[in-house]
Amino acid sequence: MNEQRKQRKQKKRPTAGEPYPVTRAVTHIRLVEVNPGKLAALDALAPVYLALCQAYVTLFCTTESPNKLRDPRYQTPLSERWHRVAIMQAAGIARSWRSNRTAAYQQYQDDLERYQKQQADGQLSAHAKEPQWRAWNVPTLREPCIQANVNVVKLETSQESSFDYWLTISTLEKGQPIQVPVKLAAYHKAALTDPKTHQGKKLNTSVQLNQRDGVWWLTLSYDEEVTPQIVAGAPVVGIDVGIANFVTTSTGKQYGSFHKHLRARHKRDRAKRRRKAKLRACLKKKGVKHLPSTSSRTGQRLMRHVKHEINYAVNQCFAEPEHQGVQFAYEALSVASMRFKARAQNAYVRASHLGHIPQQILWNSQKRGVVATPVISAYSSQECSVCHYTDRTNRPDQRTFRCQVCGFAAHADYNAAVNLSRRVGDRPLRACRDRSAIKAVLMQRHEAWKQQQGMGNTSPVKRRKRGKASAAASSI
Ligand SMILES: [Zn+2]
Repeated sequence: MNEQRKQRKQKKRPTAGEPYPVTRAVTHIRLVEVNPGKLAALDALAPVYLALCQAYVTLFCTTESPNKLRDPRYQTPLSERWHRVAIMQAAGIARSWRSNRTAAYQQYQDDLERYQKQQADGQLSAHAKEPQWRAWNVPTLREPCIQANVNVVKLETSQESSFDYWLTISTLEKGQPIQVPVKLAAYHKAALTDPKTHQGKKLNTSVQLNQRDGVWWLTLSYDEEVTPQIVAGAPVVGIDVGIANFVTTSTGKQYGSFHKHLRARHKRDRAKRRRKAKLRACLKKKGVKHLPSTSSRTGQRLMRHVKHEINYAVNQCFAEPEHQGVQFAYEALSVASMRFKARAQNAYVRASHLGHIPQQILWNSQKRGVVATPVISAYSSQECSVCHYTDRTNRPDQRTFRCQVCGFAAHADYNAAVNLSRRVGDRPLRACRDRSAIKAVLMQRHEAWKQQQGMGNTSPVKRRKRGKASAAASSI
């Protein structure tokens, strides 16, 4: 890929008719050092900026609510303009941390409530553990990342032919900015040129500077206007998210999988980390001071690879000829709450980066101007898409759905995708306050279906043993 895209957590989703801007980023532009020592001023600024930003992140995550326009509070050798940039960036980091934590806490409370209800009803399975809330650590900024605006870093087109831009960066020394030339690679230039008019795209004035292993990298961004192509009343395609199949649609297609080679790599990586941890423990006992690192390079590579496969799968789904002119419905799940969903296979779920899939669906819908609506996912894997009978015994195993009342059988992910596709604008479901209310609504629909079929009050087919079915109950 010659153009890296950066996702913004934009709350706005495409609505019919109205064009909206999508911010795209061009990353990995290496800052060239023409004269040795020229970037030293930036190197000197980085730790000071990082420390200040960290101070505000901690403040906004613990005692104050994030405020981009907060008055400066801490002493710093940085200029007031730099100080304001640090406050803004810290507020952004703290805001997303807080909203992730809130979502996770909500999920924890739901889980706890369900657990207590099952306990009271005597329906708790032997393996069930009481959900625990673990306090979240305040984010730690490790590598310098500066989201700078025009007040501190100015981007100008270069008049000479050897460079494309000049960056003027304010430093710790007042009135002594440094000027750094920027040279774009051919693929950067292609990404920044409008294919129709052959004109350069208009860049945003804010830029991002990252320092990794002593090298400075620049990220530029531009806004692109996307017009939603959606026609009113377009058919809805439901998307179910999972490990075995990253994406399963209600049109019966499947894209990507964490199984096969990714799973094997995950296992190898885990084994390697375990060995390392053992070695560390052993060395520690012997009083060795410098212990080998626990971070795993292969693990990070694997994560990038998994995310790449997810991007590819979601992209394929949106590009599918059959999916042109449709709108999508997908599970509204947050990354943070995923951890609580399948406790037994935590490491596995984390490694599969399922939380990346909804983000990627949102991003694809934004850049393509397609409507994608997050919908309530509760019981989508247990509800029968034909008669609405909702029970965990409908899932004899992870991949199979077999309705205990009407006998409808299908791949479990497909059944869930069909359910999700029907939940766009489902007011009665959205009005529900908790999972048990949702289940009640679904069972009312099942009763209505039975009346229609003239089945009256027949009871469902004999239930299976609980223990076996509970393993398949989670929707992942
Ligand atoms: Zn059924």
